[in-house]
Amino acid sequence: MIETGDMQFEGRMVSPQQVEEDREVEVTLRPQTLVEYIGQDKVKENLAVYIEAAKRRGDPLDHVLLYGPPGLGKTTLSAIIAHEMGVNLRVTTGPAIEKAGDLAAILTNLQPNDVLFIDEIHRLNRQVEEILYPALEDHAIDIIMGKGPSARSLRVELNPFTLVGATTRAGQLSSPLRDRFGVILRLELYTTEQLTDIVRRSAMLLKIPCTIDGATEIAGRARGTPRIANRLLKRVRDFADVMGNGEITEEIAKMALDRLEIDALGLDSNDRRMLEMIIRGYGGGPVGLETLASALGEETVTLEDVCEPFLMQLGFLSRTPRGRCATALAYQHLGYHLKESAGDGLDGQMSLPESE
Ligand code: ADP
Repeated sequence: MIETGDMQFEGRMVSPQQVEEDREVEVTLRPQTLVEYIGQDKVKENLAVYIEAAKRRGDPLDHVLLYGPPGLGKTTLSAIIAHEMGVNLRVTTGPAIEKAGDLAAILTNLQPNDVLFIDEIHRLNRQVEEILYPALEDHAIDIIMGKGPSARSLRVELNPFTLVGATTRAGQLSSPLRDRFGVILRLELYTTEQLTDIVRRSAMLLKIPCTIDGATEIAGRARGTPRIANRLLKRVRDFADVMGNGEITEEIAKMALDRLEIDALGLDSNDRRMLEMIIRGYGGGPVGLETLASALGEETVTLEDVCEPFLMQLGFLSRTPRGRCATALAYQHLGYHLKESAGDGLDGQMSLPESE
């Protein structure tokens, strides 16, 4: 079950969120060092310098905020940071820390220079977030003892540590929290070449025979996201086992992905439904996100986190102050014809695909 809590997205092959069946295989496939981590070159280069400098000084690494769509390797990177620093990693998520006391318990158990990874850090509640401020700045927390006029505040010293926070969008973080991160890094969607390397590496680790063309075919439809590439690899392997001789070739990959209704660019039926709704329901846009979400019966966050980053990267969708617009490229991909004069407004300037 995909964690958006959205029925439409249950079992969706190209959702970047982690599902139960991803968990086990992801542990096997996680790169352990910066060298093994494919792509994100700018992020890696900067981190390598910060890690080296912190190690030379014997200090913890500065607090790091990683942001970018799900499935791009934020959790993996936090484990790499801990590994490269030679310290322990403690993993939790914003919504899992319900009370200030839960966070206090985690913080007081950290060893010197340990890495604490908080996924979905924008979902920390206010009281918990406030405990975090002095912990990040002064390596101390203030615990309130007692109630009413007799209440006293007790300061507890902590071991120095590094917080690695992850969020899908940096703008969702409160500014006092964001300001306390010394290093803010944005992860980008991966190129097909990088994803081809990731698929080949995963196939090798999982002992799945796979040609380069087979890997490229999977990579091209994985929406710039390693988690999706690995998931598609596993599904295509089933087809290779049952319908071929076990080897993933370009032909087998194409056939399997077509059957899974993931098109040559990685769009699935949900993406196409969203674009069709903008084109046919709203004359190509602009249409507000809320309106679009309710017309599709989806949650706005699902559209924003799952569909939009990828459709925008493909240049199929543009965000304007007045709402979302389908671009000429989207019309083309879905087989609609645009009148020459349409320009950017696109309103009502389409005709239906020839097949209709
Ligand atoms: P996030 O925390 O951003 O949702 P994860 O770190 O859990 O993403 O990554 C999902 C999976 O994708 C990991 O198990 C890992 O196998 C793979 N992965 C992510 N980034 C890379 C990378 N740069 N190189 C190789 N594999 C990667």
